[in-house]
Amino acid sequence: MFNEEFQLDAPIRWGMVGGGRGSEIGYSHRAAAQRDRLFTFVAAALDLDAERGRDFGTKLGLAPERCYPDYKTLFAEEAKREDGIQAVSIATPNSTHYEIAKAALEAGLHVICEKPATIHVEDALELKALAEKQNKMLAVMYGYTGFQMVHQAREMVRRGDIGAVRVIQMSFAHGFHNTEIEKNSPGAKWRMNPEVSGPSFIIGDCGTHPFYMAGMITGLKVKSLMCSRQSFIESRTPLEDNAHVVFQFEGGAVGTLWASAINSGSMHQQKVRIVGEKASLEWWDEYPNQLRYEVQGEPVRILERGMGYLHNDDPGVSANRQGGGHAEGFFESWANLYHRYALAIDAYNRNDKAFLESHWYPDIDGGIDGVKMVNACVKSADNGAVWVDYD
Ligand code: NAD
Repeated sequence: MFNEEFQLDAPIRWGMVGGGRGSEIGYSHRAAAQRDRLFTFVAAALDLDAERGRDFGTKLGLAPERCYPDYKTLFAEEAKREDGIQAVSIATPNSTHYEIAKAALEAGLHVICEKPATIHVEDALELKALAEKQNKMLAVMYGYTGFQMVHQAREMVRRGDIGAVRVIQMSFAHGFHNTEIEKNSPGAKWRMNPEVSGPSFIIGDCGTHPFYMAGMITGLKVKSLMCSRQSFIESRTPLEDNAHVVFQFEGGAVGTLWASAINSGSMHQQKVRIVGEKASLEWWDEYPNQLRYEVQGEPVRILERGMGYLHNDDPGVSANRQGGGHAEGFFESWANLYHRYALAIDAYNRNDKAFLESHWYPDIDGGIDGVKMVNACVKSADNGAVWVDYD
């Protein structure tokens, strides 16, 4: 079981940029970071509207003087305090991640950045180099990869339970934008604006999640890809609200990704199916406590979270917070990741390189990969759905 008593010497003093009142993802960060008492939320620049951000921050329990009007003031003022923040999460629209993450790392902070990490590949590479120079953690919030059954899939592939991987089928295809909802939704509006969203809407917004997860489970790297993208809501052009991608992986495996916002009637359809030479695995985020294990010629097995037959190789971090049968969900996945970030930050602070080498968390390499994938898809699609090299 999960060790609720585990604590660091002192909780990490933590701040946020973005994630203000009414934002889609702000609460998830706060709920996950504070879940295990490894982070204490002490300061923020929560909102583009400084007054609204201050009002919201004080209602969340921040001291009024630590609700800052913008990220530059947040980093500068907190650096002057003995009890200033040590880590920050960035939950702002895509085009701002680079400049905010850069400023945070320059201010000597550990950083948890939303995905897609940046718009341009060079920017993500620059952030990686800066984090290394500063000896700080730079994590990317691929929030679905904290689920135990995703880790079970990874371990099964590693142990050879399905044999060599042949096909990877990925999808994140919801129906929430099947009409022009951006007319009345600020959170949807920026996603359709290339200057804020980047060169892609739905591949970057949703496709990056199963793409990262599949790479995490299989360890396979993309060699080349081909993408077709289109917008069924005309006003979204040149961005896409639907895309299909075909991948060739190093070593011979192939794969597909369907990223869509116009899959009418679908809640998420975020699935990763890994087909091996002996068996297949399939995980679906709407049923995250289960993992389908299909051995050729045998009845389908549905593996359940919390059961003794699973490969639980990492009981300290990804252990069950509740016994099997009780559904764990999205917030547990996020809390598992924030727990991992806390351990990584602690190791960075102690300069414990050996721990960091064996400690998994979604880091900037996965962020770089996501940005690369998005840009390669755009290049392929905009040249008539041609094959493009990944690197
Ligand atoms: P949103 O539009 O709902 O909220 C953005 C918030 O950031 C708002 O409160 C806004 O006022 C604030 N903000 C904008 N610019 C700012 C700045 N310069 N300084 C301070 N605050 C600023 O957006 P969202 O849906 O919450 O998405 C935010 C980011 O999170 C995006 O990059 C998105 O891709 C990502 N996201 C990730 C997940 C996930 O599962 N990991 C889910 C949803 C969104």
